[in-house]
Amino acid sequence: MITTKGAHEADEIVMATGSWGRETARLLSLRIPLMPGRGYSVTLEDSPYRLNYPAVLLEGRAAVTPMDGNKIRFGGTMEITPHKTPPRMNRVQGILDAVQRFYPEFEIPFPAKEKIWYGYRPCSADGLPYIGRVKKYGNLTIATGHSMLGLSLGAGTGKLVAELVNRQPASMDISPFAVERFN
Ligand SMILES: Cc1cc2nc3c(=O)[nH]c(=O)nc-3n(C[C@H](O)[C@H](O)[C@H](O)COP(=O)(O)OP(=O)(O)OC[C@H]3O[C@@H](n4cnc5c(N)ncnc54)[C@H](O)[C@@H]3O)c2cc1C
Repeated sequence: MITTKGAHEADEIVMATGSWGRETARLLSLRIPLMPGRGYSVTLEDSPYRLNYPAVLLEGRAAVTPMDGNKIRFGGTMEITPHKTPPRMNRVQGILDAVQRFYPEFEIPFPAKEKIWYGYRPCSADGLPYIGRVKKYGNLTIATGHSMLGLSLGAGTGKLVAELVNRQPASMDISPFAVERFN
């Protein structure tokens, strides 16, 4: 395996590069249809408001999470976009506007740019993850494409990857996740 920090020998390689999966696969001449889905969040530190429960504001397409006592995190949006596209601050305003529709007493000032977090979900072409081996390389396992559920599905995916790497039978049918299903 050749990296920016030298060449390494490995019996097995796992490629789990999230929303960068399409580009890293391309380095190996593999094709994985996948796009980044950018989401944003804003955390109100020292919130004057109190929330007892997290909430998903379905129509507002935003989620509200009370954290660590008096912090509240507001997150949302699914912006299918290349990584290099600059963040769109109107998306953040959209989240804050949605929150105010549901919680009219919440007045959340638009935060400084450096306080706005954004991250990328790995969105596959059909919404299912890519988990498995590929024909071209005998010791490569790929795991990406979990879109909005990568945290929830991480443990299960880790189990499947461990089984693949150890060449054990997978504990469930992974054919729907075949990495090369679009080839
Ligand atoms: C706003 C938002 C809210 C979310 N909420 C939830 C939620 O409530 N529940 C849930 O289950 N999921 C949620 N997700 C989705 C979840 O975050 C992703 O599905 C998950 O992070 C994908 O995990 P991953 O390990 O595949 O990719 P990532 O977490 O993106 O990790 C990929 C890693 O690969 C590294 N990498 C990339 N290229 C290279 C390279 N060439 N060499 C070395 N390293 C490389 C990257 O630096 C990164 O560390 C949310 C995502 C967002 C954006």
